[in-house]
Amino acid sequence: MQRNELIVVHGTNPAAMAKEALAAAKIEEIIPKGALIALKPNLVVSKDASSGAVTHPEIVEGIVEYLRGKGYSRFVVMEGSWVGDRTSRAFGAAGYRDLSARIGVPLVDLQSDNWKRYDAGGGLKVAVCDQAMAADFMINLPVIKGHCQTTVTCALKNLKGCMSDDEKSRFHSLGLHEPIARLNRVLKPGFILADGICGDLDFEEGGNPVQMNRMVAAIDPVLMDAYACRLMGHDIEDVPYIGLAEEYGVGSADLSAAKITEIGDSKSAPALPPRSGRVKALASRVNEKSACSACYAALIHGLARLDERGLLKRLDAVLGAKHEKRIAIGRDFKGQAYDGVGCGLCASGAATAIKGCPPDGAAVAEFLEKLATGR
Ligand code: SF4
Repeated sequence: MQRNELIVVHGTNPAAMAKEALAAAKIEEIIPKGALIALKPNLVVSKDASSGAVTHPEIVEGIVEYLRGKGYSRFVVMEGSWVGDRTSRAFGAAGYRDLSARIGVPLVDLQSDNWKRYDAGGGLKVAVCDQAMAADFMINLPVIKGHCQTTVTCALKNLKGCMSDDEKSRFHSLGLHEPIARLNRVLKPGFILADGICGDLDFEEGGNPVQMNRMVAAIDPVLMDAYACRLMGHDIEDVPYIGLAEEYGVGSADLSAAKITEIGDSKSAPALPPRSGRVKALASRVNEKSACSACYAALIHGLARLDERGLLKRLDAVLGAKHEKRIAIGRDFKGQAYDGVGCGLCASGAATAIKGCPPDGAAVAEFLEKLATGR
């Protein structure tokens, strides 16, 4: 796998998807034989993965099984939850304690680890936990999700879990973006497998999961995060640490030069019913009939961006007071003429529609904004 590549695996079985991603990346050509491999999920809080906050443990299981089959035998799962929660609780709540017992891989609580400071450039020294630095090879397993301060969190920010609680707090006082970008000059995972099964729309602590049914593999964390931005309907410029990391030589945010390989059928995984208050409220504008999860997620993300821009009421005026003209989406609209708004190629028979199969969240956001403002 090259640095300009992204591998997107679609499906609903996280363990099987993880194995497919590793096989496609030919990861055994990347990890040195005999390496101590650190698996770094996101276990920011004590919740399970259906909340949209934490990494599905089945991904770790799939990775370990795949790599054992390739002759690797030294693994450890490491994480430090956010200040205010305990990693020891998070390991239990997300099913990692059971997983550890079942597959024989130790858990390391980085909140209890020692640390040292490392020069991150620009006069900043960052404190990173000893066990994170001691691993021969780290696989970063972030969740693709929103964040109330940095807008998006994925690969670059997930490394904050490899620092002490005091250092996490200091990062906030330093404005987050600059230190996050610089931390990635010190700690350099060799592979990223991002969990895009059902990340939260807005909050890193979960509660607004949106079913996306995908996983994304990358080597370059800047490229990974640029992709996550577009997927969630944001512009890359909305997340300053991505541009800063690019400026500091961590990687490239140039998606136009990326080679993106799609595996699995993005259309085979049906959209699941929305499970949170905010997603439900946004979805009241949607007329969904057999929509693929990728399409549905793009529309929900697009509506959420419009809400943040204060334009939802203007869209509602276009859709009708009671959303009589809800936005059509899904395969059952194929070939149908529809007097209203459509999202995705299947619903492009609507009077006003955005094509794409599926469109990305950012494109849907732009389309809805034009519709709402008439510009
Ligand atoms: S346009 Fe249709 S087939 Fe394509 S992703 Fe959307 S719902 Fe699925």
